[in-house]
Order: sequence, then structure tokens, then C-alpha cells
Amino acid sequence: MPLEQRTRTCWHRRVRDAFTDLVLGGRCVGCGHGGRALCPACATTLPDRAWPAWPTPTPAGLAPPYAAAAYDSVVRAMVIAHKERTVLALGRPLARLLSHSVAAIAGTGPVVLVPVPSRPGTTRTRGHDPTWTLTCSAARLLACKGYAVTAARLLVSRGGVVDQAGLGAVARSANLTGSMCCHAASLRRLAGRRVCAVVCDDVLTTGSTAREAQRALEAVGVPVAGIAVVAATRRRLPGHGHV
Ligand SMILES: [Zn+2]
Repeated sequence: MPLEQRTRTCWHRRVRDAFTDLVLGGRCVGCGHGGRALCPACATTLPDRAWPAWPTPTPAGLAPPYAAAAYDSVVRAMVIAHKERTVLALGRPLARLLSHSVAAIAGTGPVVLVPVPSRPGTTRTRGHDPTWTLTCSAARLLACKGYAVTAARLLVSRGGVVDQAGLGAVARSANLTGSMCCHAASLRRLAGRRVCAVVCDDVLTTGSTAREAQRALEAVGVPVAGIAVVAATRRRLPGHGHV
């Protein structure tokens, strides 16, 4: 890009950021700098690939899990702001991270990305379904790169599950077992297509939620190639410190 055009672009960006800050009180979730929800400096710190992210202990039979980042610092702030405060501008960079994890799993065959379902009522309370939004955006990003990827809400939550926060691995597993089932209408649309699924979520902690999603899909004959998440806890990822 010519210097003059680059200077003009930077100037336009600064004016837009200043306007956003003035009107909306926008701040970067990473460093607090006024302007966009994620400033260019913080955006450059985001990973550009995903790593295996096996939780410890690993739920028996868990499909290979991949995470693009540690659930820490900027990425943690992005996930929370997008999910709890509906900062939708963070959807695209978060979806890009999720797409790295899917790309690490997906081969050349058709893949359907299946989001972990929210608990009944949670989506209504939040006013949006962040996991579904990220899953759809990741599918679009990968389709543009030539991957045979679609997204489908195959799973629904049966309800009766308590909040997972504060529960250990065993309690989480007991809380979740049998809590998801496959949406019959969505499954019918897949009928006859030889696809495998990749379970998608924002954060992997104990792996219990992902394992339950995997169980529910496999119970109706949908093979699961892996678990793709934005970020993972309780695992040391190369180059990303302790999670
Ligand atoms: Zn920043």
C-alpha cells in the first residue's frame, strides 16, 4: 500500500476509533485503550494456529480437542465481553481463533460444525447465542478458504442441568451426562450425507461438556472428528504459558 494511502487509512482509523470512544465509550478489552473493542496492537498478539488441548484428567473417549489460545489475558477478556456484555465486534476475531482449531481437525471431507447448546433460557437472558454465532462465523471463514464446512445446530439441551461454575470434573460429568440430545429435524437434513462433526465451544475446561456433546452425536450415528474451542484451561500449550 502506498505511504499516502497508508497514512490516510491510519488517520481514518484513528478518527473512527475516537468517534467510537466519544459516542459509545468504547475501550479495548485487552489494554483499555479508547476506541475499538480490540485495538490493533492487542489483535496482533492473537495466535494464528491451534494446538492439542487435552484436559487433565481427560474424559474417557474424548475426541481430539484443539484450542487456539490459553484461556487467559486478552482472549479471556474477549470471550467474557462477547458472551456476557454482547460486544459483538469481538465476534470476528474470536471466530478466527475458533477457525484455527477447526482447521487443525478438519480434513478434505465435508465437516459439520456443531455448537455446544446453551442451557434453556440462557440465550433468552443474554439476548444472543454466542457459541452459535462464533460457530457460524468460523464456518464462513473456512468456507472462504476452500474447506467443505457448514454449521448446524444439531444438539439441544434437555434442561435440568445446574450451572457448571465451581464444579469439579467428576461433578461436571455427572451433571451433564444425558443432558443433550440430537435435534431430529436438523439430523434429517443431514441424512444421506457422509459428514463428520466437529463439536465447537468457546472454552474447554474439564472436557465434560464437549464429551457429552460428542456422546449425543455419536448416539445417533454422527461421527465426531474432534473438539474445537477458542481457548482452553488446565493445559500447558506451547508458547502460551499455563492455562
Ligand atoms: Zn488493546
